[in-house]
Amino acid sequence: MIATPIGNLGDLSARAQQILSQSNVVVAEDTRHSRRLLHHFGINTPLLAMHEHNEREICARLIGQLQAGEHLALISDAGTPLISDPGFHLVREAHAAGVRVSPIPGPSAALAALSVAGLPSDRFVFEGFLPAKHEARQQRLQALAQESRTLLFYEAPHRITECLADLAACLGEQREATLARELTKLHETVRKDTLRGLSDWVSHDPEQQLGEMVVAVAGVAVQQSLEDSDLLKILKPLLAELPLKQAVALTTQITGGNKNAIYTRALRLKAAES
Ligand code: SAM
Repeated sequence: MIATPIGNLGDLSARAQQILSQSNVVVAEDTRHSRRLLHHFGINTPLLAMHEHNEREICARLIGQLQAGEHLALISDAGTPLISDPGFHLVREAHAAGVRVSPIPGPSAALAALSVAGLPSDRFVFEGFLPAKHEARQQRLQALAQESRTLLFYEAPHRITECLADLAACLGEQREATLARELTKLHETVRKDTLRGLSDWVSHDPEQQLGEMVVAVAGVAVQQSLEDSDLLKILKPLLAELPLKQAVALTTQITGGNKNAIYTRALRLKAAES
């Protein structure tokens, strides 16, 4: 399973290049797209198409080739295979057939976005693409409204405006969020704001509605019953005496609040003081 660049070709690792050249076949989502990538690196390994429509169908044949001792490299159009991309059935079947599956890790848009989002990253939930239809999307978001971990969504450019509007409506206009667009490419943009702020910005600037994007949204804040002023009565004096991590752990223990939200609050408090 080989991760390929999400934009910048410099992100294809040396090991990925080596394994791609040494494999018998490179299984790819779109062979025309991947031929350009291989060509760029002077790799001539034959390509075979496997996409969501034929994955189950050609799995048996690929497993046969693997059992006969061939080495297959699987790549997707960009990023890490299986992450909102084909490959799941093949990996599952390979395990069932006793074939070794090995990762050549590298770029993935979700983790790249999380690494620059400025949102709690100790626990997060990858939600992939939200449903395309408004009602189904709102339903999904309502089910996520109480999620306390950071949420990561992939979104298509033609849906980003309505997606941000729905996110603000279902999760709260004041929730912190980050839009990470065109990562590793010429027009890379990372913008952190409230959901309302992002929604307004994107709807008024057509350029932000272009390209590839990830939306990261902070999890729900400290339990609603815990007012910010009550939280601060505990957090502030502890922060004055203890390292941040310890102050957060104790405040979480005392209040029963959400650790991520308290950590974010503590960071904001520190930043405001400095
Ligand atoms: N397997 C890929 C990965 O590991 O990132 C994701 C494939 S999924 C079909 C494509 C989605 O990933 C895009 O619609 C977008 O949401 C996100 N994406 C891919 N490249 C990106 C980039 N350079 N910047 C931001 N998001 C990107």
